Amino acid sequence: MSGEFAFIDRIRGLTDPGDIDPNVRVGIGDDCAVLAGGLLFALDTMVDGVHFRLDWCTPQDVGWKALAVNLSDIAAMGGQPMACVVGLTVPTSDSPKGPPEGAEMTDMAHPPIADQVMRGIVEAATTYGCPLVGGDTTSGPNLVISVAVIGSTSPPWEPVLRSGAVAGDAVFVTGVLGASADALDYLLRGAGHAAPGDALRRLHRPVPRLREGAAVARAGVSAMIDISDGLGADLAHICDSSSVGVRIDADAVPVADGVSLDRALAGGDDYELCFAAPDPDRVRAVFAEAGLDAPHQIGVTTEASAGRLLVDRAGKVSPFPRRGWQHSI
Ligand code: ADP
Ligand code: MG
Repeated sequence: MSGEFAFIDRIRGLTDPGDIDPNVRVGIGDDCAVLAGGLLFALDTMVDGVHFRLDWCTPQDVGWKALAVNLSDIAAMGGQPMACVVGLTVPTSDSPKGPPEGAEMTDMAHPPIADQVMRGIVEAATTYGCPLVGGDTTSGPNLVISVAVIGSTSPPWEPVLRSGAVAGDAVFVTGVLGASADALDYLLRGAGHAAPGDALRRLHRPVPRLREGAAVARAGVSAMIDISDGLGADLAHICDSSSVGVRIDADAVPVADGVSLDRALAGGDDYELCFAAPDPDRVRAVFAEAGLDAPHQIGVTTEASAGRLLVDRAGKVSPFPRRGWQHSI
């Protein structure tokens, strides 16, 4: 095995489970670590040229997304955020993007990129009640934004792990899938096959599903993950962690307008939630009570030996591959 997930397995191999501090309830392998008292702790990093390009979005968008993707991991545990810290690596050549001729570097209409990134982070922090309480600033060859968040679930609700699904659970997703991947494709190809306005917003300004995640925690579900790498890849994480298989009804997968089913199944950057629930009616009732859009039931979990399967409209069954985004390292 090579790639990001094999690397994470090797890291896990370096930590002796016997050495884990009693304050650690869940370590490497879930959307957040869970510490004593149900405290949630996670970190995500965005790198210029890998996760974003400043000719495709504004520095404020980058800041917003850097926090929002972390908040999505808090949502994926059914938690609420408490605070964040930010590690910023700023290229020494940081300068305002496209300042007018003669504009000063300190012209507040065109502040340096790092200032604009921080404005985006604070905008998301204010929107979602996750105050910025510290961090670190350094210079380096490339713009890199690392954000760490802490959060918690409100008692008596427990954090929802990836590992609790059992065969026979209903599988749900929130929202619609594929719009961000479509927008990325549009940007990469420099041409449109669908009106990209909403899709570009989904890509650059993702909305962490915090209210939905909290509703999921209240609905007595068995497992949850946020869809950051693509439904195929992220559902496979639930299957691996829970030792179950899955049978997904392709027709039931909520596909964004103008997007192909394939892209909805494999594309990344959706930041919707995928979860398994023993009592699907209770899920629908809790979402309705909270005034949230009903999540889509897309299939069921099965015995692990049945594997991960996709059933098309005609009833044809095929493997549901672990496709999705993975860093090659
Ligand atoms: P997510 O997409 O939810 O942010 P990732 O796929 O990035 O999760 O990571 C999977 C798991 O591996 C998470 O539990 C994460 O904390 C852990 N992980 C990733 N990179 C590292 C690392 N360098 N050191 C320790 N744990 C890591
Ligand atoms: Mg996640």
